[in-house]
Amino acid sequence: MNNDLRARVSGVVVDAGHGGDDPGAVSNGLREKDFTLEAAKYLYQRLKELGIPVAITRDTDRTLSREERINTMVNSFGNGRDVLVLSNHINSGGGEGAEIYYPLRNNDELASMILEEIGNAGQKMRGTFQRRLPEDPSKDYYYIMRDTPNTQSLLIEYGFIDNANDVKKLQNNLLDYVEGVVKAVAEYADVPYTPPTENGSSGRYTVKKGDTLWGIARQFNTTVDALRTLNNLTSDVLQIGQVLILPGSEEDQETMIYTVQKGDSLWKLANQFGTSVAAIRELNNLTSDILRIGQTLQIPVAGNNVEESILYTVQKGDSLWSIANRYNTTVNAIRTLNNLTTDVLQIGQVLRIPGKPTESNPSGRTYTVQTGDTLWKIANQFGTTVDQLITLNDLQTTMLRPGQILKIS
Ligand SMILES: [Zn+2]
Repeated sequence: MNNDLRARVSGVVVDAGHGGDDPGAVSNGLREKDFTLEAAKYLYQRLKELGIPVAITRDTDRTLSREERINTMVNSFGNGRDVLVLSNHINSGGGEGAEIYYPLRNNDELASMILEEIGNAGQKMRGTFQRRLPEDPSKDYYYIMRDTPNTQSLLIEYGFIDNANDVKKLQNNLLDYVEGVVKAVAEYADVPYTPPTENGSSGRYTVKKGDTLWGIARQFNTTVDALRTLNNLTSDVLQIGQVLILPGSEEDQETMIYTVQKGDSLWKLANQFGTSVAAIRELNNLTSDILRIGQTLQIPVAGNNVEESILYTVQKGDSLWSIANRYNTTVNAIRTLNNLTTDVLQIGQVLRIPGKPTESNPSGRTYTVQTGDTLWKIANQFGTTVDQLITLNDLQTTMLRPGQILKIS
């Protein structure tokens, strides 16, 4: 019996923030509840693999009442200090990076360890904080701390859903950050940490004793340079247990997370995102082509390079179509790059646009033709003339179509 009474951690309750009717923070068609579910399920699975007793508040997209959530937190392993509650969240409201909240009753030891590992995994670290209830500052602001009297209840914010850099990181690296949480918890609980096993993803290799970059390159039919670049290695010295990404693997390509909507099919998604059904199947290890609403899929994204995109703030009258035209791209490309699940844009919304802006009209204003518009009406509205509009836009006809973009001098 390995029943250590002095165990620092007797159990971990993993909480997937929000869920069901409560999407949490929403931005650009992305929903916090989808990220938190993905993070929580992974965290639960990994802690289980390490042999740490673990429970989860929800493992599907369902609505949890406050009571139900708290019940799982305080009843799974009791309500002692040796019980960790890890509530997974995505931030919003302006900012970038990860932050952790911990209860007034605790010090920040565990919170700091977790934040540091998330930082090691590549995310910006904002800090660890406590937050007090405004109407009673002796109490915690978050009910997951207030209503769990003794447990170490932490709220982990992995990044901001309304920050373009963070969105990209959350879509590509969220599980790396969660793996950081796994490491920190293992260290805190004094449980030996082992990296994730290769569960079907042949694209990773875990360094074993005696391995060299050269040997691994040979084994996987690649080059030392390719391994160095792909893994951002600054040294050729490998550590046992270190996980390397292999060229040509799924991690070697940009992917995004997509939540299946009503009416979606693999074929439709493949078309929408400019990929193939086979690629989506392979990336997600799908054994069936039947999709469930709410299911999250990884979608391969080709040529989705941040350096080659610009930021555009949506103006009144903009549509995906008008923006695509203006920047010489396609509606699909903008949808993909921004992981849009709807074509409805909000004024002020920031979009990533592939490529560079055309120089044809760098500072001039544009106008999107509305139903019922005529050249005469638009000319009047903008204090110009029909002739000027015709010349400026090289119009062959005075007939306008709604959605058409006109340059206005
Ligand atoms: Zn949240």
